[in-house]
Amino acid sequence: MGELNLHVAIIGAGLGGLAAAIGIARAGHRVTILEQAPVLGEIGAGIQIPPNSSLILKHFGLLEKIESVSVRPSDFIIRSYRDGAILNKLNMVPYAENRYGVPYLHIHRADYHRILVSEAERLGVKVHLGSIVTGIDFDKAIIRMKGRPDFQADLILGADGLKSICRESLLGRPDPPHLTGDLAYRIIINAEDMRKHNDLRSLAEKPAINYWLGPRGHVVCYLLQGGGLYNIVLICPDNLPEMVNTAKADLQEMRDFFAEWDPKLKTLLEMVQETTKWRLLNSEEMDSWSHPSGNFVLLGDACHATLPYLAQGAALAVEDGAVLGALFERIEHRSQIGDVLTIFERLRKDRTTRIVKGSTALRDIFHMEDGPRQQERDRQLTEHEPFEGYPNRWADPVFQPWLFGYIAFEEAEKAWKLYEGGLFPGTTGQFKSNL
Ligand SMILES: Cc1cc2nc3c(=O)[nH]c(=O)nc-3n(C[C@H](O)[C@H](O)[C@H](O)COP(=O)(O)OP(=O)(O)OC[C@H]3O[C@@H](n4cnc5c(N)ncnc54)[C@H](O)[C@@H]3O)c2cc1C
Repeated sequence: MGELNLHVAIIGAGLGGLAAAIGIARAGHRVTILEQAPVLGEIGAGIQIPPNSSLILKHFGLLEKIESVSVRPSDFIIRSYRDGAILNKLNMVPYAENRYGVPYLHIHRADYHRILVSEAERLGVKVHLGSIVTGIDFDKAIIRMKGRPDFQADLILGADGLKSICRESLLGRPDPPHLTGDLAYRIIINAEDMRKHNDLRSLAEKPAINYWLGPRGHVVCYLLQGGGLYNIVLICPDNLPEMVNTAKADLQEMRDFFAEWDPKLKTLLEMVQETTKWRLLNSEEMDSWSHPSGNFVLLGDACHATLPYLAQGAALAVEDGAVLGALFERIEHRSQIGDVLTIFERLRKDRTTRIVKGSTALRDIFHMEDGPRQQERDRQLTEHEPFEGYPNRWADPVFQPWLFGYIAFEEAEKAWKLYEGGLFPGTTGQFKSNL
């Protein structure tokens, strides 16, 4: 760890902002998070933590806490929408841990967020709630807020999610998220109620993750919190009115869309008492995430929002935080901040872009109409061993190790070695001139 003690301001206390705060505070710097919400929290839904993210949580010393409130899915199961027939099965326990050294996990977002907040606070990170950022003066590293004095830091990180003021300030123009054509119903029900049901018991007993693929939609279900809760995500075409991104859903409309699907699913959806529709939005790939002043960079959904179909959005934001933390462990002089941000962006942009594009491509694979393409997809899933380009992307023998086997800290270490040798592209060579 270097001697340098920087003050880093992070805009947004989502999973990405918190991971960055933990990584940078662990590196010995002072961190303040400015969060617009008056109270901290996450929405009531589940989230998947893939091995590329579990490894970081392990490094942060948090895996045990996370695991104590998580479920380890035994298998990834892909089913046909019509009758629930299994098209493909990928083992996760013990496979994930044997192959990647850490488990694949399912967790309630509120638990995940609470554990990250408490670790950030334990490391001395200050969280200023009710701090609504309205703009940034990049040259002076000053943050403007609604009804509050300006805030200055050595470096500003924009982790304010998909609808990002930070991104718009950097671009110097409005950049509202765009429609993806899909929406999600997010539902949690009591798994005990499912166990009382003959048709649903098998789903609630074994902690597998189940996907149903169908025309224009798909369904993802998994257990949470020691198996006490069942998380259901239903994806279907977006029919929300213009300018409305979330709305209380009509249960009959929800059931009607899935009326011809697996009878088990229909029984499951009969148990749902209420739910909300969430429009799935996205943003365009940016040319650059950082400001030429060298004081500012974006991370997380603010710069690489993704459809959630690979279940990697938060994992990428956590990877961003880990890479930033590892780079700020190594920085020795204030004049290197700009280079660190260049290295960060170069390390992260190709990977995040590939995953965003891969998630969008999965929409087509998952939502095929019945017909020859769908039959060929299902034939490959049922009859073929996984090959490169396989429709179960998590089973693809080339994509999977690239996706799950990413070691954020090693990437940062390798890049720093290049930088020390004056070989990292795009950096100014401050390393040599200042030491
Ligand atoms: C249906 C669905 C399922 C998903 N499932 C998964 C999954 O299984 N696994 C996975 O890894 N990812 C998943 N994701 C993606 C994941 O939720 C996001 O990628 C992740 O939460 C992004 O984190 P973030 O910190 O970048 O942004 P956010 O979580 O959006 O946090 C941004 C924070 O910034 C604050 N903020 C915003 N504007 C301002 C402002 N002006 N001033 C101050 N503060 C501000 C917000 O209040 C918020 O706290 C899913 C997403 C969806 C929609």
